[in-house]
Amino acid sequence: MTEKLSFKNKVVVITGAGGGLGRVYALEFAKRGANVVINDLGGSLGGEGHNSRAADVVVAEIQEKYKVKAAANYDSVTDNAAGIVKTALDNFGRLDIIINNAGILRDSSFVKMQDSAFDSVVDVHLNGAYKLTKAAWSIFRRQNFGRVINTCSPAGLYGNFGQANYSAAKLGLVGFTETLAKEGFKNNIYVNCIVPLARSRMTERIIPPHILKTLAPEKIAPMVLYLCHESTKVTNSIFELAAGYYSQIRWERSSGQIFNPDPETFTSEAILNKWSSIVDYQDKPFNKVSHPVQLSDYNSLISKARQL
Ligand code: NAD
Repeated sequence: MTEKLSFKNKVVVITGAGGGLGRVYALEFAKRGANVVINDLGGSLGGEGHNSRAADVVVAEIQEKYKVKAAANYDSVTDNAAGIVKTALDNFGRLDIIINNAGILRDSSFVKMQDSAFDSVVDVHLNGAYKLTKAAWSIFRRQNFGRVINTCSPAGLYGNFGQANYSAAKLGLVGFTETLAKEGFKNNIYVNCIVPLARSRMTERIIPPHILKTLAPEKIAPMVLYLCHESTKVTNSIFELAAGYYSQIRWERSSGQIFNPDPETFTSEAILNKWSSIVDYQDKPFNKVSHPVQLSDYNSLISKARQL
């Protein structure tokens, strides 16, 4: 039988853990022995206001159910990420895992979107994840261990009406993940991105009730914990998780077209003529469709073009 994945002696910071998905992750980590910092500003869905109750309730729930110590932190990820790390160190003396989960929504069509709605959403999701990860990074490097989960969204991968701010922030987290995974690898710091769909205050007004019923946040947590375990070898990956269906997302590049660089022929008209070849997803004799796409294949394709 597979051994139970334990998080004993591990310290986990989860942002936005006072409700929704973050709370469920926190309970599962605590159940498996981790000490968890429950960070939550306790504001509205749009990010207005704050209160300490959201985080306190989850801390009390963990202590009551699992008899492990948890600590509350009420800082905004945008204002005091160093304070969140300090809460982990002051209470538990270490930090091993961070889950960048805090989020807000300020939806509106692009034509009506205010700068403040764009900036605040990018600030919480993208800059907040950056600030917390930055505050933890040197600790992870020193101890030669760290796990980071960034939270993307289907809106980030595919776009969604009314969410230009949110989708920009969420796809930004994919690029952030891919670079940190490369930089962290030699220090055993693994960084992955999840793309969840689950019942929470974020989705309860936009998804019909009969579908919401199937989208328990508990169905997201198993992958999050797996990716954070010390035994995992997975890094630099994106996973879509919903209703118990788990899959991996990767980039794909068409086989493409290499143009002769002669300025007489390498023109916009040549693009028009070769359009179907540029966007062709069938292999060609010298150019194959690439998936997953690596920067190294891209460099070799470019060097083929350079030889012409
Ligand atoms: P939620 O609103 O229940 O949870 C978000 C939490 O973040 C809230 O408790 C909120 O108080 C906290 N928060 C907001 N701003 C904060 C700040 N500045 N500092 C600290 N805490 C802050 O929603 P959820 O659905 O559980 O969302 C969790 C994450 O998952 C978010 O990043 C969200 O974008 C992402 N996500 C959720 C879904 C879904 O289907 N629920 C889909 C895709 C992505």
